[in-house]
Amino acid sequence: MKHLLFFGTIISSILLGQVDKSMDLCSRQNSFAKWLSIENMMTENQERINITFYDLYFKIFPDDQSINGLVSATAIVVDSGLTSIDLDLMDGYEIDSVQINGQNAEYTYSSNLMSIQLAMVGTPDIGSEIVATIGYHGDPQSFDFGSFTFDEHQGEHLIWTLSEPYGARGWWPCKDDPSDKADSVNIVVNVPDHLIVASNGSLISEESNPNGRKTYYWQESYPIATYLVSLAIYPYQYWEDTYINADGDSLSLTYYVFPDHYGSLYENYLETKDMIGLFEEKYGAYPFFDEKYGHAEFGWGGGMEHQTLSSMGGWSDWLIAHELAHQWWGDMITCADFHHIWLNEGFARYGEALWAEYDEGIDAYHTYWANHAYYGGGTVIVENTTTVSEIFNGQLTYNKAGWVVHMLRHVVGDDVFFNMLNAYANNDSLKYASATTEDFRDVCEDFTGLDLHDFFDQWIYGERYPRYRVLYDTSPENVLSVQVNQIQSWQLFHMPVDIRITTTDSVYNYFVDQTGESTLYLFEIPDSETILNVELDPDNWILKSVEVMQIGQEPPLPGAFTLNSPFPNPFNGRINIPFSIGEDSNLSFSIQNIMGQTVWEKHAFYPNGKHIINWQGRSGNGADLPSGLYFFTIQSSKKSLRQKILYLK
Ligand SMILES: [Zn+2]
Repeated sequence: MKHLLFFGTIISSILLGQVDKSMDLCSRQNSFAKWLSIENMMTENQERINITFYDLYFKIFPDDQSINGLVSATAIVVDSGLTSIDLDLMDGYEIDSVQINGQNAEYTYSSNLMSIQLAMVGTPDIGSEIVATIGYHGDPQSFDFGSFTFDEHQGEHLIWTLSEPYGARGWWPCKDDPSDKADSVNIVVNVPDHLIVASNGSLISEESNPNGRKTYYWQESYPIATYLVSLAIYPYQYWEDTYINADGDSLSLTYYVFPDHYGSLYENYLETKDMIGLFEEKYGAYPFFDEKYGHAEFGWGGGMEHQTLSSMGGWSDWLIAHELAHQWWGDMITCADFHHIWLNEGFARYGEALWAEYDEGIDAYHTYWANHAYYGGGTVIVENTTTVSEIFNGQLTYNKAGWVVHMLRHVVGDDVFFNMLNAYANNDSLKYASATTEDFRDVCEDFTGLDLHDFFDQWIYGERYPRYRVLYDTSPENVLSVQVNQIQSWQLFHMPVDIRITTTDSVYNYFVDQTGESTLYLFEIPDSETILNVELDPDNWILKSVEVMQIGQEPPLPGAFTLNSPFPNPFNGRINIPFSIGEDSNLSFSIQNIMGQTVWEKHAFYPNGKHIINWQGRSGNGADLPSGLYFFTIQSSKKSLRQKILYLK
């Protein structure tokens, strides 16, 4: 929304005192907590190696629900005195062979860990390369979490993996930690020959073998975290498409679907190209451009952002946008550990809202955030990474984390924000590697020159949101005093806030820094104008509650709901539509033309109080509308009110 010119100036802002309050930490509910006996804690030995390459071979027997695996892990030694190599592998497999640099090696295998002795290669020097090779077989489903699943669809075998957060060790031995990505991975899979194997990276070859079997050889040549390595296996129907970028380079898109879903999915997937274009414009080049992007249907009712090939159990725009956004945020830059999972999921949520904005306009973007607000307790940073439900908490890890990205956009400003995300995407030490909250904060601070410690501390490590109470006074004339108070019983927030002042002649927008319990701002308003309304953060860039009161005026009575005369009416440029509500409400606004067609709509949360909504004669996607008579409707859960407005250009 464009800001009109403002004539008033801030003549002073006075800090009336700041009182620190200790944080009110609330206990969290984990009603369906699923405890795992494992977490991504590295062993001491694992911290002394850097994995460079995995060579994975699986022979899969769907009828027996078993696999034979032969896995080589190549590691560079980064610390002295290493006598063994530790790889995570869930208990329960039969181990057939264990070798170090091609020679049989002693090992132990218990508590979901293989520890392989390096005796035959001596104590390796720093910088030397070690290859550990393990042959094993068994049923990967014998663990109580479904990282590797023998499933079925329409009577056919469906085999799929979903390894986030700690499931890779459920089907292959690895250093299962997202802070140490392999530089590349080969994924070779032998299956009955009616099955098609879809996986990460590029398909190098497919080869028919004796006894009715077939081998697929996939290669991921970009760095990849263990949890992003995936298999999706079925007699798929698949098709290819091509995305052409701004330089004319092409990226191949491959979609694997169940044949009975082809008809209903084809149209949905066509939008993927537009989404890649949008995200390339906002975030920079698609990270795996030399390989592919694609989708593979699987048996879980959601999506999973497997690198270069998202696994899909739904087909909505938002899911497609979400998993695609993860290719930048989650796959190219991965959370260093699952305390910082919001860097994956908050950014993927943000991708959904960006798509809404691109597809339907800025009001749809704001509606998205109104519908994904979370006001409860708990921190975005994950305290306990052994609980899967806590890592993937829908309200904190997804919705509030997405709000943090949304809020950051306004704190730094639109142009700066997207350039800043580009800087993050292209940071030499983070690109194709892993990041913590602090790494991201440092990039933002370096790029903007702002001190964002308070911002990240309060929103990522702190709980809840600010509750603002705004008191304004229009006397003496020409000076408007606006006192912004934070009235919550928990931590205080430090945010820049928008203050919008609507007068008989103008709309003034200010962006002021607010910190502490109470801040007083004084605004000079021209003599000729009467102040009609004051709003704080009217466009909902802050996760907050707010109440605004004029000194000497009663707030609306509980249950009140009134729509006042819009002004100016007729209008040219911008019309202001005042309304008041006596309680916090989710409201729908819409504008119909004389044919009864809805030409604009918006849904938003409004607190108890007086408000003004503006309209500029444009449709939701920004198209200018013709002059004429329109009807403005505002609807609460209880009633709907309507006013005629006349647009004259
Ligand atoms: Zn996600």
